[in-house]
Amino acid sequence: METYEKLLEEAYGRIKKVGGNLKRFEIPKVEGHFEGKKTIITNFSQIASIFRRNPEHLQKFLLKEIAASGQREGDRLVLNIKVSSAKINQKIEEYAQEFVICKECKKPDTELIREPHNRVTFIHCLACGAKHSVRSKI
Ligand SMILES: [Zn+2]
Repeated sequence: METYEKLLEEAYGRIKKVGGNLKRFEIPKVEGHFEGKKTIITNFSQIASIFRRNPEHLQKFLLKEIAASGQREGDRLVLNIKVSSAKINQKIEEYAQEFVICKECKKPDTELIREPHNRVTFIHCLACGAKHSVRSKI
């Protein structure tokens, strides 16, 4: 038979878990398919807007990381080679860790600020105010 303390602990554990899930940012997963030798990411614009980033920035990062050429067609991104969704998702996650998620509070409510004079780019967190420099060139 379970003790009252144990029951309390379990209930508290559940509450904490729910709260934790609400706080944690879900990195979006790509949706897409192959067309011949091409990979079509159908929710590309959506991912960029969840990140609140310029789609061109995300596109440039992905193409370079995957070492593929590609172009946007409407809301879709077309890669000119076959790439597994697992690999693209991994790159999307790396992008999020580097250019979207605040290193201090782990929230995604950030903006990229480019300072043209010293060619430095910062992530500025709108939630906690932290500022971190990131790669300017990708
Ligand atoms: Zn923050």
